[in-house]
Amino acid sequence: MINLISLCQNAEKIGISGHVRPDGDCVGSTMGLWQFLSKRFPKKRVEVRLERPADVFDFIPGVSEIVDNEEDVVYDVYFVVDSVPDRIGGAEKYYKSAKTKVNIDHHITNKGSGDVCYIDAAASSASELVYDLIKEADPEGEFMDEALAKTLYLGIIQDCGVFGYSNTSPKTLRIAANLISYGFDFPKLIDETFYEKTFLQNKVLGEALRKSVLCLSGQFVYSILTREDMNRLGAGDHDFEGIVNQLRYTKGVKAAAFLHETVDGSYKVSLRSGGMADVAKAAAALGGGGHVRAAGCTLEGTPEEIVERLVAQISEQL
Ligand code: 5GP
Ligand code: MN
Repeated sequence: MINLISLCQNAEKIGISGHVRPDGDCVGSTMGLWQFLSKRFPKKRVEVRLERPADVFDFIPGVSEIVDNEEDVVYDVYFVVDSVPDRIGGAEKYYKSAKTKVNIDHHITNKGSGDVCYIDAAASSASELVYDLIKEADPEGEFMDEALAKTLYLGIIQDCGVFGYSNTSPKTLRIAANLISYGFDFPKLIDETFYEKTFLQNKVLGEALRKSVLCLSGQFVYSILTREDMNRLGAGDHDFEGIVNQLRYTKGVKAAAFLHETVDGSYKVSLRSGGMADVAKAAAALGGGGHVRAAGCTLEGTPEEIVERLVAQISEQL
């Protein structure tokens, strides 16, 4: 395990990034690390460089402090959390030029890079790993408070499906038990960040389900929303959360994919499985990555070509 104190005590400038299109775990782990380091080292410059997260995460302390300017700055220590370093968008140059590069992740496809790594594919979430590191650096919990507890809890519940996915371990639950003892309103947090959808998001989900296609003898289901669909519905990039999971709940299905066309005409692919198919392998073969049960990639081509490549990869994993 890496030690946050020895890593950071001689640094003046510390940067933190997570993956593009940040999800709840990405927000929880980057903001959790930021909160801890900012409080533990109040004289140091600690900042997060991240794409703007969805509005539902605005209540997390630190989100309003995310840095989005371009600046000639060389960080002494740069953390990439919940991601491989080449999936952090425009922040990659700060990671590359940093004096010490640190990678904290729980994706099985992350083979590790940089000077220091803490990668554990058995962890529920990157937020669980950040919790471990904070616990190691602050065993008495001097810097753990309600804000930090709810931030890490957010990340954990998002990636383990509110303790329903197989990546939930006894340790995950022990950490969660400790976190809720700080007294934040966890049922409200779960409702508002995990289950609640806007009216529009529900409409988009409905359209994705209506357009879904079952193939490979009922073992694979996919759905595609094009730019045209999105424009018609008025849907934006933050309106797709949860769609692929709902597809995966189709009886008999072993893998599910949801695809949406991005502004540049490529397709963002989200893959899920119930464990019978390794979607991390399928995604990796297509240039992406992730976990056995949740992975993704971005593909170029017509929807027909993309579906053909995807079906071929999934069929290999079944
Ligand atoms: P989602 O479908 O929710 O976007 O992503 C599912 C999982 O796969 C997440 O853990 C995410 O980080 C990972 N993932 C999604 N897209 C990509 C990708 O293009 N490359 C890599 N390496 N991982 C991805
Ligand atoms: Mn994660």
